[in-house]
Amino acid sequence: MIAMALSCQPDLLVADEPTTALDVTIQAQILELMLELQDRIGMAIQFISHNLGVISELADEIIVMYAGRIVERAPAARLFALPLHPYTQGLIKTLPSITGRERTLPVIPGGMPNLAQVTRGCRFADRCPRAVAECLDAVPPLVELEPGHDVACIRASV
Ligand code: SF4
Repeated sequence: MIAMALSCQPDLLVADEPTTALDVTIQAQILELMLELQDRIGMAIQFISHNLGVISELADEIIVMYAGRIVERAPAARLFALPLHPYTQGLIKTLPSITGRERTLPVIPGGMPNLAQVTRGCRFADRCPRAVAECLDAVPPLVELEPGHDVACIRASV
């Protein structure tokens, strides 16, 4: 499938979970191939994934989405060094560490909102450890808090 997509030398490749269900070795080979072809053809890759480990290896810029909305956007290194949205912070905390001694990985409590129902304000409010009443007043706008780093949270700051 990847070979078919690349055969016409696109300017942009949209890769939606391209390595899901592959074992780690094949996954690494596919990612290496995509990066090599990206260099050769000069195309951009929009890589959609739940795997933060893969994303950290691959991405120049990361956009984090929650319940259909962008909640944070930043250069990859900056996002991992200083995540500003509580959802991004929660995601990064759930990553296992090879040096840590924790027996239980942290989780983000609760579940995704039902988007078929009308929701008010921030869609992450039910699960957010920093939520206050004002979070339900309106959808938090995506605001640039430092150059190239946008966050949709009324309580976020650098
Ligand atoms: S706007 Fe409020 S509920 Fe939403 S992420 Fe920020 S602090 Fe949490």
